[in-house]
Amino acid sequence: MDFLRPASWQEALAAKAEHPTAVPIAGGTDVMVEINFDHRRPEHLLDLGRVGDLYEWEAGEDSVRLGASVPYTRIMENLRAELPGLALASHTVASPQIRNRGGVGGNLGTASPAGDAHPALLAAGAEVEVESVRGSRRIPIDDFYTGVKRNALAPDELIRAVHVKKADGPQQYSKVGTRNAMVIAVCAFGLALHPDTRTVRTGIGSAAPTPVRARTAEEFLNAALDEGGFWDSGKIITPSLAKRFADLCAAACNPIDDVRGTASYRRHAVGVMARRTLTWTWESYRGAGRTTSRKGGAA
Ligand SMILES: Cc1cc2nc3c(=O)[nH]c(=O)nc-3n(C[C@H](O)[C@H](O)[C@H](O)COP(=O)(O)OP(=O)(O)OC[C@H]3O[C@@H](n4cnc5c(N)ncnc54)[C@H](O)[C@@H]3O)c2cc1C
Repeated sequence: MDFLRPASWQEALAAKAEHPTAVPIAGGTDVMVEINFDHRRPEHLLDLGRVGDLYEWEAGEDSVRLGASVPYTRIMENLRAELPGLALASHTVASPQIRNRGGVGGNLGTASPAGDAHPALLAAGAEVEVESVRGSRRIPIDDFYTGVKRNALAPDELIRAVHVKKADGPQQYSKVGTRNAMVIAVCAFGLALHPDTRTVRTGIGSAAPTPVRARTAEEFLNAALDEGGFWDSGKIITPSLAKRFADLCAAACNPIDDVRGTASYRRHAVGVMARRTLTWTWESYRGAGRTTSRKGGAA
């Protein structure tokens, strides 16, 4: 196995163009597990550790440009106000050691339906900035996941950054696991209120072949909140409205039975998390300032 060590982004792109089957390695928390278990034996490993740009982030007026290798710990420490949903999701990833190395670029590279960044990115509205020697493009997060552990990257492309809209309202992330740390999600749910556009967006993890949004549930809720004048009045969301939203979120799942949980349990749990995160975020919206976010909890 050859180890390629580009010193700059341009060198990394050139190396990927020359060796399209080279496997990029950032924090290595997915790649090294696969190599250690002999699930993967690539001819070339492309180490991105010396590409400094990938560890930087920049908060603009409307969005944050998050370098692909920014570790979860940095997101939790520095971007809690701008990206509360992603910061909450980052909290639930593994352990401090993994959070110090792993990042969103690697989560997107692996594209596991159970990856914790995905529901938060779907709910917030994100774009993945990818590049090759042929040029750069931005892939809307809704188009990024193409199948189980598959994504929209071309063989010669690398992820440079993720552009995530800054929170304009409360966001939440909830995850079901067999314990509170070091656990892959049985299922997970992200929800973001967007008062600026008077919309709600969702993200579901580990309950379909790819991370998905509950679009019908979003459409139902957006229409109900609009017609009922909820955004202006800030009145309490009725239990029947929350239940219908939860049922539609559960219906958006297409889960499997596996060692972590049954399909029917996953559907049920997604409904519970949808109802809870809607209640938490709406209560925050109704409260003082109407933009604060609560800490997430297990369903
Ligand atoms: C003990 C343990 C517990 C874990 N728990 C969780 C958990 O709770 N939640 C969770 O979501 N994940 C978990 N993971 C998985 C892993 O930590 C995450 O997926 C993490 O985000 C991967 O980031 P990384 O930088 O380490 O990626 P790497 O392992 O370096 O790479 C992952 C994939 O992305 C590709 N890649 C990396 N960077 C780029 C780039 N810039 N451009 C293109 N492709 C790229 C790699 O080629 C590889 O296919 C766990 C892993 C371990 C070992």
